[in-house]
Amino acid sequence: MTRFSVSGLARVAVVAAALVAARAAAATDSSEPQTDMKPRYGLVIHGGAGTILRSELTPELEAEYTAALSAALDAGYAVLNSGGTALDAVVATIRILEDSPLFNAARGAVMTADGVCELDASIMNGIDRSAGAVAGVRRVRNPIVLARDVMERSKHVMLTGEGAERFAVTVGHELVENSYFQTELRRRQLEQAKEIEARESKESAALDEKQPAFSEFVHKSTDDTPDRKFGTVGCVALDQHGNLAAGTSTGGMMNKRFGRVGDSPIIGAGTYADNGTCAVSSTGHGEYYIRAVAAHDIASRVRYAGDSLPDAARKTIDELGAIGGTGGVIAIDRTGAITAPFNTPGMYRGWRLSDGETRIAIYAD
Ligand code: ASP
Repeated sequence: MTRFSVSGLARVAVVAAALVAARAAAATDSSEPQTDMKPRYGLVIHGGAGTILRSELTPELEAEYTAALSAALDAGYAVLNSGGTALDAVVATIRILEDSPLFNAARGAVMTADGVCELDASIMNGIDRSAGAVAGVRRVRNPIVLARDVMERSKHVMLTGEGAERFAVTVGHELVENSYFQTELRRRQLEQAKEIEARESKESAALDEKQPAFSEFVHKSTDDTPDRKFGTVGCVALDQHGNLAAGTSTGGMMNKRFGRVGDSPIIGAGTYADNGTCAVSSTGHGEYYIRAVAAHDIASRVRYAGDSLPDAARKTIDELGAIGGTGGVIAIDRTGAITAPFNTPGMYRGWRLSDGETRIAIYAD
């Protein structure tokens, strides 16, 4: 039988009072999980934005994309539905998209000018704004899992290249050959990109004989280039406990070189999550998303200007467009409001919410 002395009971009362006070303080701190809110939860995913036209996608291919997006949505929703965390849902969802050769992330990623796949990913937890990212990894099967390990099992936020792979081994990842990620389709697209680049290089050399070498360094994205379909994957989620998380994974841009890294692994540009505002994942021409600090820009509009989530995201995409950027974003907030604006002809996207709303879409209309 347990016995309490009078002073022991007094200590228990003090501890209980402290716990009540701590919970009251937590309830007013938007970064803390809140369990008393209406349990609406759900997730939004994207599989990249770009020139995705009905005329170019066969019904068979469209069905394949839809099936892959559905499988990813279902996996993430199952986590949320069973009371799991937004973070777990984001990882479960993105893993499926990374494993699918259809998207430009992990298996099926676009190739560098040297014909290899170099992968970038990031993840962020809205509870405390902890974050993890990896860039330029070549041998990690699921970069989103490694990004989470950077967040939870290292003192750092971002690791790159071989160092990131050495870290991966220390936390138990098995490395794969780069050939695991490479697909025939991406090899053909790389050849096509190189042909276009060579043609453009010749044309601009003829136009300006003084600067023939410059065109070599310009990564153009005209209507002809295969990189007009960006294909990155991302997920934002709100769990039953009221917490947000976001993640993004990509192979970057076709024919990239010089260790180019885009927005996807950059916290604030490609990925952002904060329980006080929203969770965002971007896809599009990364250089512009970095310059616009796009994901954080949306959260800032919500926080400082009091914009609704759809207004904030639309304004950011409009400003991105004004400086020449193309692509889209997905976002969710703590009320379960969602949005997925883009300024390209299409964006692979989908969402599933606990009130029963579920949808997968590809084209702008
Ligand atoms: N944003 C990615 C990058 O620039 C590409 C994409 O979204 O598909 O690396």
